[in-house]
Amino acid sequence: MNTVRLKFERVGVFPLVLLFAVYSLPVECLMNVKPFFGLRFWGAVDGFSHCFIGSIILFPLFREYTFKTYLLAFFSGGILDIDHIFVVHSIDFKDIMMLVERPPTHSLAFAMIAAGLAALVVTKKYKVFFFCWVFIAIAQHVARDCLTDVTPILYPYKQIMALSVWAYVLLQLGLFLLARTVGEDSALPFISQKYPKEAES
Ligand SMILES: [Zn+2]
Repeated sequence: MNTVRLKFERVGVFPLVLLFAVYSLPVECLMNVKPFFGLRFWGAVDGFSHCFIGSIILFPLFREYTFKTYLLAFFSGGILDIDHIFVVHSIDFKDIMMLVERPPTHSLAFAMIAAGLAALVVTKKYKVFFFCWVFIAIAQHVARDCLTDVTPILYPYKQIMALSVWAYVLLQLGLFLLARTVGEDSALPFISQKYPKEAES
């Protein structure tokens, strides 16, 4: 009854890096100028892009995917933007897109704190996996916001509020490599809990 399972080993690093580049290049250029439609449309594109790019960066961490597992990785890349709703008191994409400066939760410091809290509340065998999941999901999101917005990535130090394209690409690559490095060992308990029979064999 289970569904198609996609493994990181079968996909490989290069197609994921290529997918990141092929998707990011036109979308980030268009996001910069927002040439047609309105702010709501670009707000939706931005939300989707956070989730989609997040799922690429996190792909090696989860190691293998059913549709449901992919959705977990996908939505974790965009969920940080809930903080905008609290700041602007609106769920309208147009209002959210009007927010000039991102809140302190859009920072690497918050990524560390949230990851630490996530690791605290799970049992020992899941700690590394949950820490890396939460940290990478938030850090890749914050890095991407630094391309187009005033984002306090190094909060409370607020001298650097944006990244150059190259710094952005290097940071995302670093997070992707982190996911790849820790994924193999840390995802095993997670996978064995989700698919016990296959993981034993
Ligand atoms: Zn954001």
